[in-house]
Amino acid sequence: MICRVCDSTNLELAIDLGEQPWGNDFLTKEQVGKEPFYPLRVVFCHECKTVQLDHTVKKEIMFGDHTYLSGTTRTLDEHFRRVAHEVDSRFFPGKKKKAAFDIGSNDGTQLKHYKSLGYDILGVESSVRTAKLANERGFPTLNEFFNLQAAKRIKRKFEVINASGIFFHLEELHSVTDGIKELLADDGVFVVQFIYMKTAMDNIAFDQIYHEHLLYYTLETIEKLLARHGLSMFDAYEAPIHGGSIMGFVTHKGKAEKSKRLLSMLEAERDARTNEFKSYLDFAKKVEGLKERETEYINRAKTAGKTIYGLGAPVKGNTLLNYFKIGPDKFEYLIERNPLRKGLYSPGMHIPIQLESEMEKQPDIYYVLAWNFKNEILERNKGLIESGIEFHFPINPKG
Ligand SMILES: [Zn+2]
Repeated sequence: MICRVCDSTNLELAIDLGEQPWGNDFLTKEQVGKEPFYPLRVVFCHECKTVQLDHTVKKEIMFGDHTYLSGTTRTLDEHFRRVAHEVDSRFFPGKKKKAAFDIGSNDGTQLKHYKSLGYDILGVESSVRTAKLANERGFPTLNEFFNLQAAKRIKRKFEVINASGIFFHLEELHSVTDGIKELLADDGVFVVQFIYMKTAMDNIAFDQIYHEHLLYYTLETIEKLLARHGLSMFDAYEAPIHGGSIMGFVTHKGKAEKSKRLLSMLEAERDARTNEFKSYLDFAKKVEGLKERETEYINRAKTAGKTIYGLGAPVKGNTLLNYFKIGPDKFEYLIERNPLRKGLYSPGMHIPIQLESEMEKQPDIYYVLAWNFKNEILERNKGLIESGIEFHFPINPKG
């Protein structure tokens, strides 16, 4: 294997989460037990320091028909609204003709907010159903995989290019980054959101590791990728979205100085030795410790005769369930709000999904898999908490 970013062959295994199914592959009753498993291993590149998966599940398998809808959570919608307003007022105030392009635009939730600010909008989304939904809602969306060839067909420039998460899912990393360079206006800003590996390590949030996430960036390592394609990050901050993400602002190389806050975050990475191999080995040990503690907690609750439901059925929840080996003997249901997941089973561990709106009784414990929405969940369930139902968070985001 060669490094996905710098082509080096000097890679070493850091974290092994075993054989796992593709985490977004929620199963119908007939599919249960027939799903394929793939290695879920994180390797460290000693050359450019980027951590990455060594096994690629083909993008056509993972993104052709996914059922994730970004509009379904209020937190995410609000985050997208804030980003659009921030970008517009910081970089393009008063500009009359402006355009925004969103890669992995999902149901158009991000584009909606740029549209309301007067931007000409275009999205690209690989999921057939989701792209159709976005077009029906009035957000023009191409249904294809984005890469340099797709960019050349689009033949326009955009003041804003947005990529939330999905940019780093893509196996055609270099072609995608070239495509961004191609479409970015001279004064344009590429707004990129990605899970921040430094925070994931601080939080022991190992469930951020799944097959869709081929790469796990820090501020130091993403710059190496961008530099290779004539781009450079000039500002960044951390947002609580997805349990700790970087909001990065990127432009053509040489166009802007790095901000003070970006420089100090880079320094914090050096102080914490974030980009060193040993830190990843330490992380792997903490993950094992977490598994022991959580297994004990669940076993104790079961011995006491308590019922446990998983709360949420996010992709990352499946990393946790499969690595902790939690099946329907432990959790009777995973409770979901996304209607597309009605009647399905979780891949690997085969826990049935029940829609929140169709629940007949409450469990003793909610084991919160969607822990990144902690505040929203605690707020929404005040009544249940007061009635004595426990909400257990296996991962507690700091701050
Ligand atoms: Zn490398």
